Parts: sequence; structure tokens; C-alpha cells
Amino acid sequence: MRTQVCIIGAGPAGLTLAHLLHRQGIECVVLERRSRAHVESRVRAGVLEQPTVDLFTEIGVAGRLHREGMTHHGVNLRFGGETHRIDFDALTGGKAITVYGQQEVVKDLLAALAPPVLFEVSDVRVADRRVTVVHDGAETVVDCDVVAGCDGFHGVSRASIPAGALTAYERTHPSAWLGILARTKPAAEELIYARHDDGFALHSMRGPALTRQYLQVPAGTDLADWPDERIWAALRRRLDDPALEDGEIVDRGVTDLRSHVVEPMRHGNLFLVGDAAHIVPATGAKGLNLAVADAVALSYALGAYYAGVPAELDRYSARCLDRVWRVQHFSWWMTSLLHTPDRADPFAARLQHAELAQVVSSPAAARVLAENYVGLPHPVGWSWR
Ligand SMILES: Cc1cc2nc3c(=O)[nH]c(=O)nc-3n(C[C@H](O)[C@H](O)[C@H](O)COP(=O)(O)OP(=O)(O)OC[C@H]3O[C@@H](n4cnc5c(N)ncnc54)[C@H](O)[C@@H]3O)c2cc1C
Repeated sequence: MRTQVCIIGAGPAGLTLAHLLHRQGIECVVLERRSRAHVESRVRAGVLEQPTVDLFTEIGVAGRLHREGMTHHGVNLRFGGETHRIDFDALTGGKAITVYGQQEVVKDLLAALAPPVLFEVSDVRVADRRVTVVHDGAETVVDCDVVAGCDGFHGVSRASIPAGALTAYERTHPSAWLGILARTKPAAEELIYARHDDGFALHSMRGPALTRQYLQVPAGTDLADWPDERIWAALRRRLDDPALEDGEIVDRGVTDLRSHVVEPMRHGNLFLVGDAAHIVPATGAKGLNLAVADAVALSYALGAYYAGVPAELDRYSARCLDRVWRVQHFSWWMTSLLHTPDRADPFAARLQHAELAQVVSSPAAARVLAENYVGLPHPVGWSWR
């Protein structure tokens, strides 16, 4: 098989890139390890920044997103028995976020996609401009100009780069998130980020009768130690909402909070995109949005490359990393602002209270949160022309 760009991974990064390349007349093929049903039902992120929604609208994949997604013009911070609303409208000149599940994004991108996707491939091997896979029991070779490694944190792309060619920066956090998807009515119209002495909690939603809620738990937590009653009791206490509705939990999992970046996001003709190059703790709701921003930057650079301006490909990594580190900082800051520090460190707890008090009392401090939360503009458009 011969194509211009071989995309490994059909997550938000790979599928967005496939759309953007196709719209620029650049050929590509997407190789995905899992089945279509699996990637369309994988519950993960669900907060879309304004630039992500604007992009999906511009490329014509946002019809259902606009019908079913929930536009939020603010977010709530709850601590010390009070709730404080951060007003995105007032602080960002009318920008907003849209709550819409990642699996729905993936469904919409796949439904409208023209380039081919080979699902359930195995034994993916990357060697410069050649990718070898096993598909339907037979080995297939994809010859291409460029490989886009969009295969997430545990994918094969980054792993195929020789040791020493990349520098990794990593920060581990002592906490993880226990997340549930439950058939219950949201307790509020907008997200609630709660700081409590027992630990952080986030009340989020995916629909009028579906909530996505999270609890700070120690890293390494075993789900078996958290039966339903314990989860609901902890959510009620930490969210300071004794009337919080409980119901059937349809999905649950524990996700580590991890900060990780590799530099550069390129090795020869292999370009790393999204989680393949970086992971952020989920507190800032940035992972999916950052993956989409990388796809925009690579689409722009490849548009330039095929128009005879190869230097733009050399700028890809630095351009992405500017945003990656801004988002890393924001995600780390939101995490340290809201997660309960070690009980043995009362000094840290008081610093945290002082910072939260400033965020909700100073419009300048609130604006920093709001601008980063709704998403900073992409530095370049997706199309070279
Ligand atoms: C378990 C989990 C839970 C998360 N929860 C949240 C959350 O609650 N809130 C939040 O804001 N963010 C969350 N995130 C982060 C967010 O979902 C990611 O940042 C986002 O999915 C990144 O998109 P991506 O396309 O770069 O990578 P991915 O979505 O990981 O997509 C990579 C794709 O590559 C495929 N793949 C992997 N290896 C291979 C291979 N060898 N060959 C071919 N294909 C391959 C995978 O099957 C997958 O489809 C979560 C992430 C994970 C992993």
C-alpha cells in the first residue's frame, strides 16, 4: 500500500489529523489496534475547549455536538462550605466550553471520515517511511512519506524511536482519579470542582440523566476497595451535597495523574501527536484538546510540505511544545490548587486556601483560570493555504 501519510491510532489525534489532511488533498491511511466498536465506546474525556469546538464546526463534524453537547459559560469552585462561580463569559469575552463525551467525538469523526481506517491491526512496526502491520491475518506494508504517531501513551510510535533520541520530562503525582459514569441527574448546570479535607471531587455530566464524577484517591488504588456505597458517600461528603442523587454506575476506572512530555515531538519522518508525546493530569481537562491542537499544527506543516515549503515541518515540534508546556503548567497548577495535600503538611494546606481565595476574589487571577480553561487560540490554522 502506498500513501502520503500513515497515521497510527484512531483516537482524537489520529482521526482529527485524517480529516484535516483529507481536506487539504493529502492522502492518508489510519491504522488502529482496536475494533471500531471499542474506540467508539471508550469513556474518557468530555470537556471541549472553544478552539476545539470551533475547529470541528469549521470542518463540518459538529452537527450532533451542537445538538447534544452542553455549552457551559462558567465553572464552579466549591471549598470551605461555599461555591464560587468563575464566569467565562465575563472573563474571556464570551468564550465557553462544551461538555461532550470523547467517545461521541470519536463516533462523529469516524462517521464523516473519507480516508480508510484499518481496525484491529497488530504487530505494527515503524521503520522510517515504511510501516508494517498484520491486518486480517496478512502482513501489509504501508509505504509513505511521513508517519504520524497518534497511538497514545502506550503506543508503538514513541517506543520505536531509539533510546537517547528523545528527552523525557516527567512528574508523578501521589494521587489518582477514581472516575464513574452514572445514570443520575446532574446536581448543577455547570461543573463543580470541590476541594475538601478528605480529597478533591469533580461533579461533571455527559447528558441530562448521565453524570461523570471523580474522586481523588491514592495512586495504586484498587477499584475493589470502592464499592458503590463508599463512592456515593465520599462524593456527597466532598461535594458538600447530602442530597446528591445516586444511581446505576455504568463505567468506572482509576486513572493515574501523570505529567509527561518528550522532546522533540519528531524523529526523522515520524511525528508524535497527542498522548503519544505528552500526558497531562486530567484536572485541567486538556488531554483531548491538546491532541487536537497537535493535529492542527501537523496538518498545517504537512500542507506546507506538500506545497514545497518543507521548513514548516521543522517548526512542528517547537510550535506544539510551546502550547504543551503552557498546558502542562495549567494542569499542574489546577491539580495542586484543588487536590488535598498530604495531611502531614498543614503549611501546604494553608497556602492552597490562600490561593483559592485569591482566584475567587481577584478578577485578574480568575481570568488566568478562565482563559486557560476555555482554551488558548491555536497558533496556526489547520490549512497551509
Ligand atoms: C484511561 C484514560 C482515561 C482518561 N480519562 C480522562 C478524563 O476523565 N478526563 C480527561 O480530560 N482526559 C482523560 N484522559 C485523557 C484523554 O482521553 C487523552 O488525552 C486523549 O484520548 C488523547 O487522544 P490521542 O488521540 O492522543 O490518544 P488516544 O485517545 O489514546 O488514542 C490512541 C489510539 O491509538 C491506538 N493504538 C495504541 N497503540 C496502537 C498500536 N500499536 N497500533 C495501532 N493503534 C494503536 C489506541 O487504541 C487508540 O485508539 C484519559 C486517558 C486515558 C488513557
